[in-house]
Amino acid sequence: MLDNVSRRQFLGGAAATIAVTSLGALGFADVEAAHAAAIRPFKLAHTTETRNTCPYCAVACGIIMYAKPAAENGGKRSIMHIEGDPDHPTNRGTLCPKGAALLEFVRAPTRLAKPRYRAPGAKEWKEVSWDWALDRAARHLKDDRDKNLVTTNAAGVTVNRWLTTGFLAASASTNETGWITFKVVRGAGALAFDNQARV
Ligand code: SF4
Repeated sequence: MLDNVSRRQFLGGAAATIAVTSLGALGFADVEAAHAAAIRPFKLAHTTETRNTCPYCAVACGIIMYAKPAAENGGKRSIMHIEGDPDHPTNRGTLCPKGAALLEFVRAPTRLAKPRYRAPGAKEWKEVSWDWALDRAARHLKDDRDKNLVTTNAAGVTVNRWLTTGFLAASASTNETGWITFKVVRGAGALAFDNQARV
């Protein structure tokens, strides 16, 4: 059949096709504009990125937390998205289901954001300041060490053992934090010392 189409007929048909296509293009532009107007802005636009570590387990995956500036969030800066850090050597951007749900953890209304204290014999917890809690912990540690430090063994050899207090360190710390923690705890003479990574 194509053999029967003359050159003139072919060009005429092509011109008609171009005209229809142009009209279609005009119509499509309207649709395209309407479609573009309906698309929400990229949700991470204008956010700041903060790197951190998932607090849940000893794998210590790297995360990126995205926060909206206060001016765009009713005057309060808040985290609105958390994902795995693709540059982190442990997880390379991946997160397990617990880590993937970290935003719910951050926003949980039951999450404790300040230390609490329950006095001996009391039934109620009361909120205290970080300074108060740290001072109290330091006071207990000092008093216990002063009272119970074993300076020499039965043979009179200096040992400086502190056996009445134990420490549990975090596994998600940096090497430097881990090194300092180890020096402080061992330097104080404590032998009962473990890490969340083994729990
Ligand atoms: S994302 Fe999962 S595997 Fe990684 S540290 Fe958090 S809980 Fe552990």
